[in-house]
Amino acid sequence: MKVFDEQHDMFRATVRSFVEKEVMPHVEAWETAGRMPKAIFRRMGELGFLGLEYDERYGGAGADVMMTAVLHEECARSRSGSFAMAVGVHCDMASPHLYWTGSEALKETYLPAICRGEKLTAIAVTEPGGGSDVAAIRTRAVRDGNHYVINGAKMFITNGAMADLYFLAARVESGSDDRRHRGISMFLVERETPGFGVSRTLDKMGMRASDTAELSFQDMRVPAENLLGREGVGFYEVMRVFQRERLVAGLHAFAMADRALEDTIAYVRERQAFGGPLSDKQAVRHKLAEMATDIEAGRWLTYAAWQKYAAGEDAVREVSMVKLFTAEMVNRVAYGCVQLHGGYGYMREYPVERFARDARLMTIGGGTSEIMKDIIAKAIVR
Ligand SMILES: Cc1cc2nc3c(=O)[nH]c(=O)nc-3n(C[C@H](O)[C@H](O)[C@H](O)COP(=O)(O)OP(=O)(O)OC[C@H]3O[C@@H](n4cnc5c(N)ncnc54)[C@H](O)[C@@H]3O)c2cc1C
Repeated sequence: MKVFDEQHDMFRATVRSFVEKEVMPHVEAWETAGRMPKAIFRRMGELGFLGLEYDERYGGAGADVMMTAVLHEECARSRSGSFAMAVGVHCDMASPHLYWTGSEALKETYLPAICRGEKLTAIAVTEPGGGSDVAAIRTRAVRDGNHYVINGAKMFITNGAMADLYFLAARVESGSDDRRHRGISMFLVERETPGFGVSRTLDKMGMRASDTAELSFQDMRVPAENLLGREGVGFYEVMRVFQRERLVAGLHAFAMADRALEDTIAYVRERQAFGGPLSDKQAVRHKLAEMATDIEAGRWLTYAAWQKYAAGEDAVREVSMVKLFTAEMVNRVAYGCVQLHGGYGYMREYPVERFARDARLMTIGGGTSEIMKDIIAKAIVR
């Protein structure tokens, strides 16, 4: 089945060349530094990679959804989950809140700089007290004249310390049990807003070049026009953008797994044991075959769900299956690839070691595997 045309293939070649020349040589240094330079986003903006599906009048490329798929697959092949995640958050997890629900004035003000990579974005939903239960968020926004006054904290925010614009979920009404989904709104917050603070940058198991922060807001006055969409419908907007986030996570997962499998095949062809290359042993070949099959299943489940989603159909069940399957799959592949590298697979100098740590996030971030199972079960058990 063909899902990409010639234009997609040409775009893939362009992104791949950029990743090989301008990202991969720096991955180790970014891991050590615990962040990547913001200049990489400006460079991607120059190349026209950011805001792919956004209208050209805001600086976007007016491209289709499969162009987005190409971008994220190629970023994930960089052997840096961190880089893929930072780009994914900017393009398809944070800024869609503005494109889909922002006023014309907000879009004109901010989208061109987002597409040029001059303003980096972050999505701030999770709180120190919990992430899975989005309706339980406690950050409060109280209307005061032409402003909302926001108090609270956000946890585990990607691009959190270095972003310029934050898409922030806050509660505008107290959450009595039957209304807790309805009291939430989304706000666009500029980093320079008085009262905005980065409490700390978080140290992590993997995705180490990704900037993850805890944020705090103390009497932060946000102009009322920075409310995105109608007051009180933010929960549903978060859920809507989650669909896109989870599809991007699927792309990341199978593309990262694919790259690690390629690296592992190259390794077992070189590595000698018991009088020949590891790649001649049947048990090794079977393991490679199993992993390749797992990756293909993830790839095609993801493409099918992307297409259903792009056609405007309700794809919540399929998208949740993508997130569940690919996140668990990439961890199975990570385990297998490290195992086939033997002791070297446990060494920092081999990319497969980083892959295994990066992959571990996939069953947690953007909705855990348990939450995906809950959503799927709700759709199939009546
Ligand atoms: C590196 C990293 C980057 C992230 N980036 C962002 C970001 O940019 N923006 C953002 O808003 N958030 C971000 N997150 C947060 C992420 O989305 C949450 O960690 C995730 O949604 C889980 O929330 P939690 O950590 O509070 O876990 P909890 O919700 O406390 O869950 C803990 C465990 O309990 C399980 N559990 C919870 N409820 C149930 C239930 N009803 N039934 C069964 N099991 C359940 C969960 O599956 C999980 O295993 C990031 C997290 C990490 C680690």
